[in-house]
Amino acid sequence: MKFQCSIVISLLLLQCLAVLVASQSFDFFYFVQQWPGSYCDTERSCCYPTTGKPTADFGIHGLWPNHDDGSYPSNCDPNSPFNPSEVSDLKSSMQKNWPTLACPSGDGQEFWSHEWEKHGTCSESVLDQHAYFKLALSLKQKANLLQALKSSGITPGSSYSLESIKDAITEAVGYTPWIECNKDSSGNSQLYQIYLCVDTSGSDLIKCPVFPKGACSKEIEFPSF
Ligand code: AMP
Ligand code: AMP
Repeated sequence: MKFQCSIVISLLLLQCLAVLVASQSFDFFYFVQQWPGSYCDTERSCCYPTTGKPTADFGIHGLWPNHDDGSYPSNCDPNSPFNPSEVSDLKSSMQKNWPTLACPSGDGQEFWSHEWEKHGTCSESVLDQHAYFKLALSLKQKANLLQALKSSGITPGSSYSLESIKDAITEAVGYTPWIECNKDSSGNSQLYQIYLCVDTSGSDLIKCPVFPKGACSKEIEFPSF
């Protein structure tokens, strides 16, 4: 009897542990969009997807579960590989809005698979694979960065102050973004990625609880693509 009891207790504990591991907690998402011109305008350069040159618009990089202290979980569920058949209805929208630019050219599956496995598996407690990709696509519609910048007279092919770019987005979106810069092959600072924050359910943009680290110059390039 005693033996059976301890087996039952052990199994219960094991189950609790499995649930805990599978539902790795997080406090908010970073929704990260990327300017393709800046990904390509570097020493490393880029490769257009097999489906052709993406349109000159911000593309999705990822939707990343994050903690309020700035740390983040990653690769949370090795038992949940990216499954293209679960997002087949979203594929053409993903090719347009979430284009791969890595070399050698691909159709995007490798990039999406990386994003799902590293980041998406850490929000599986709220979003399955289909919901995760669908949410990112809908957030891009909600936060139209190219339009936001354009409304303030900020268009590709010129340099702008970091402040004016932040202000343009804050005005359009309602929250202050984080701007990540990279360097072109001459070492100039350029607008690479824009971070916005989203609540854990994915329904609302929120004020970022914490910003990433890193610095841009006061004046940054917004290269054409
Ligand atoms: P992450 O691991 O999600 O933090 O993203 C960083 C990785 O994504 C790096 O290996 C980047 O080279 C890669 N990456 C960023 N943008 C793209 C893109 N548009 N296409 C393919 N890979 C990308
Ligand atoms: P600093 O010049 O570093 O004192 O920053 C002035 C203000 O700009 C502070 O509110 C910073 O948080 C903000 N800031 C600095 N760099 C960035 C960036 N890359 N993206 C968004 N805000 C920034």
